[in-house]
Amino acid sequence: MARHKGRAWHGRLLAAGLGVTVLAAAASVWTAQAGPAGGRQPQAGVSAPDARSQEQVAEDIAHASDRGARGVNITIDDGPDPVWTPQVLQLLKDSGVKATFCMVGTQARAHPDLVKAVVAAGHRLCNHTVSHDTTMDTKSEAYQSQQILDAERMITKASGGVRPQYYRAPGGAFTPYSRQLAASRGMRPLGWNVDSKDFEQPGVDTMVATVKSEISGGPTVLFHDAGGDRSQTLGALREVLPWLRQQGYSFGFPVR
Ligand SMILES: [Zn+2]
Repeated sequence: MARHKGRAWHGRLLAAGLGVTVLAAAASVWTAQAGPAGGRQPQAGVSAPDARSQEQVAEDIAHASDRGARGVNITIDDGPDPVWTPQVLQLLKDSGVKATFCMVGTQARAHPDLVKAVVAAGHRLCNHTVSHDTTMDTKSEAYQSQQILDAERMITKASGGVRPQYYRAPGGAFTPYSRQLAASRGMRPLGWNVDSKDFEQPGVDTMVATVKSEISGGPTVLFHDAGGDRSQTLGALREVLPWLRQQGYSFGFPVR
């Protein structure tokens, strides 16, 4: 986990994420305005991947929710982690919320029991590459392919055969090639609209305020269940999830 504690690593993540957030906000507005004709129909009741997961999906970066305009997608990145993932799972269970877990390949390989627990609880899997390289967009296609396809295999093996349905480039470092490759394997490129900034550990109140103020700009919210002390993440989720429900939001998955 040393790589997650590095300031440089995190700095790159933040810098990249910031750019994506701006683009994502613009894209989400367009998506919202596009209405039903602009997106796929929700696949009600589909949480466990099946044969359809391997079909070609769209190559553009998804932000919308399968629950429509009042849907929220909770996304949890960088795990699974033996300390924090079980606590996040318990909180989501207590809250009645399904989420999308963007897993790092080496983490999935090290903790297959946690990958299976995530799937068994009805959450979805997302491929977050083998080694969380936030400079993927500067690397060769061969390197990108290895990072994506090896992680797909590692996560699928750890889950017992359940495939990741999304691909999220670390730090948002997508390329046209990586999006195309992931989509061809049934993994929809996945962005985010709201960065809780839990990696900075700014305090629960600040994180809650960020989500409350930014959720109107797009439905996909970014949290982490690895990479350091995630107690603030748990605290923020504990406040944010009931608040979102009170506001009339429902919890879904990113569109595929
Ligand atoms: Zn990440």
